[in-house]
Amino acid sequence: MSHFVPQRMKYEITGACHKCGKCCRYLYCRDVDTENEFKIMQFLYPSYRRFSIIGKDEDNNLVLACKYVTDDGLCSVYKKRPSFCRRYPAKRINYPGKLHEGCGYKVEQKNFQDYLN
Ligand code: SF4
Ligand code: SF4
Repeated sequence: MSHFVPQRMKYEITGACHKCGKCCRYLYCRDVDTENEFKIMQFLYPSYRRFSIIGKDEDNNLVLACKYVTDDGLCSVYKKRPSFCRRYPAKRINYPGKLHEGCGYKVEQKNFQDYLN
């Protein structure tokens, strides 16, 4: 699977968050490949200014972390968190998005035949 081609896949999501905070400490920004692109994204969308680049993954994708996650794994701006945080984990995600190891949610990819069934 190439990471140059966005993969939009649909999933069924079950389970619940147990508040480990991993998804706030290690995340990707869709459609952003470089530090300059990320800066432009932060300029255009102020809600992205909460994130900073903490490195790159093995496929050279930028990895981000949010400054509002507490040491306990909680969101310190929970009532004012952005809509993309409220929707997480989304039913549609773009590669290389995936759940963190130990996340309380489970995802199951649904194909066309599943929906027919
Ligand atoms: S990784 Fe999963 S269990 Fe941990 S905080 Fe995020 S959604 Fe909750
Ligand atoms: S705003 Fe809150 S929920 Fe969203 S990434 Fe930051 S700590 Fe996590």
